[in-house]
Amino acid sequence: MNLIRSTEAGITAPPVREAEPRHLCTDCGVSRMEDPKACGRACQFIKPDYEGLEAKVHGRTRDPNQPDELHFGPFRRMVRAALDHPRQGAQWTGIATRLAELLLERGAVDVVLTVAPDPEDRWKPVPVLVTKAEGMAKVRGMRMGYAPLLAMLEPVRDKGFKRVAVIGIPCQVYALRALEDELELDKLYVIGTPCSDNTTTERFHDFLALLSDQPDTITYLEFRADYQVELRFEDGSSKEIPFLKLPISKLPPDFFPLTCRTCVDYTNVLADITVGYMGGEGEQWLLVRNETGEELLSLLGDEVRLSQPGDKGKRKASCRGLHHQHRARRGWASAARNAGLGAAPGGLVDAEDRAARPGVRPGPG
Ligand SMILES: Cc1cc2nc3c(=O)[nH]c(=O)nc-3n(C[C@H](O)[C@H](O)[C@H](O)COP(=O)(O)OP(=O)(O)OC[C@H]3O[C@@H](n4cnc5c(N)ncnc54)[C@H](O)[C@@H]3O)c2cc1C
Ligand code: SF4
Ligand code: SF4
Repeated sequence: MNLIRSTEAGITAPPVREAEPRHLCTDCGVSRMEDPKACGRACQFIKPDYEGLEAKVHGRTRDPNQPDELHFGPFRRMVRAALDHPRQGAQWTGIATRLAELLLERGAVDVVLTVAPDPEDRWKPVPVLVTKAEGMAKVRGMRMGYAPLLAMLEPVRDKGFKRVAVIGIPCQVYALRALEDELELDKLYVIGTPCSDNTTTERFHDFLALLSDQPDTITYLEFRADYQVELRFEDGSSKEIPFLKLPISKLPPDFFPLTCRTCVDYTNVLADITVGYMGGEGEQWLLVRNETGEELLSLLGDEVRLSQPGDKGKRKASCRGLHHQHRARRGWASAARNAGLGAAPGGLVDAEDRAARPGVRPGPG
C-alpha cells in the first residue's frame, strides 16, 4: 500500500496491481494495467520499432547522414543549459521539473506523471500524479530503480484528464509512445531524461554501502561528466570519488540487470525534449526533438541560460556501430515474431561496446 498523498501539493500515488512476470522487464507499469498483454505491443524489449515510432512522433527517423543523430536520435537543437536559479533538491538545476511546473502553472496540462521518493526510502521511485505546480518541488532529484509509472495512465483516464505531461526514462517513454494512440489524449508532453545502467533500488543500496560507512546519510549521487562520482550527505558535506576508484569489482555480476545492459536508448529518443547533463560539460544538456519540445523550451523564457555544446572525441565509429546494432536488434525482433516467440532478446551490447558509446556512464545512475 502506497502512502504518498499531499492534497496541498496536489500529489497522489494511486495503488497499482501486482506486476505480471516477464523475462526482460523494467516494470514500466504496463504489465500492471487492466490488459497486461499490452506489453506485447508496447515493450522495447519485446517489439522494438524505433524507426516507426520516431517517424510517428517526430515526423522523421534519425538521419543516417548526421552522425550525431545516429547516436542521439532525431533532434532539432542540442544545447547546454542551466536555470538561472537552480532549484533546491534538483538533480542538476531542475529543468525537468521546472518544465512540468510551468505546464501546471499555466494550465496547459491537467496532470503530470512522474516519480516521487518513497517516504521510507529516498532512493526508491514511486509513481505519482501531480495536479498542482507546488507539487513539482517534491519530486525533484534522481532515484535509482524501476517504477511502474505507466500504470498511472489508468487513474488519469478514470479522472477524465485529457492533457497530460509525463517525465520518464527511455524504457518508460518507449512504451508510452507505443500506446499513445490508445490513450485518446488531447495533448501529451513528454519530458525525457537520459538513462544508463539503472538497477534495483535494493542493489543500489548495496552500492552505496561500498562507498561510505554511513550510506543511509547519502542524499545525492551523480556520475559526473568529469569522471568523478559526487556524493552529498545529510550534514551538508560532499565527497568526490574518481570513477577508477569505484568498487565496481566488488559488485555482483548481475548488479546491472540484463535489461539495462541491453538497452539501446540512452538519450530517450522518443521524448519531445530530453533533459540530461552528460553532454553539458558541467551544465545541463538538452535535446529539443520536435515542435512540442520547442514549445516546452520556450516556456522557460529568460529563466534559462543556453549555449552551444562543445564537440570532442571521435564518434563516427561508435555511431556506426550503434546504427548497426539498432538494425540487428530490429532484425532479431522480427525474426522472433516470425518464429512465433513472445519475446526477443535485446540487442547484445557487451561492456566494450558500451564503453565505446560516448556519454554512457561506467556505473549505475
Ligand atoms: C536511473 C537514471 C539514470 C540516469 N542516467 C543519466 C545519464 O547517464 N546521463 C544523463 O545525462 N542523465 C542521466 N539521468 C538523468 C539525470 O539524473 C537528471 O534527471 C537530468 O539531468 C535532469 O536533471 P534536472 O535537474 O533537470 O532534474 P530534476 O528537475 O531534479 O527532475 C528529475 C526528474 O526525474 C524523475 N526521476 C527521478 N528518478 C527517476 C527514476 N528512477 N525513474 C523515472 N524518473 C525518475 C524525477 O521524479 C523528476 O521528475 C539519469 C536519470 C535516472 C533516473
Ligand atoms: S518493461 Fe516491457 S514487459 Fe515490462 S511492464 Fe513494461 S512493457 Fe511490459
Ligand atoms: S538503462 Fe534503459 S532499460 Fe535500464 S532503466 Fe534505463 S532506460 Fe530503462
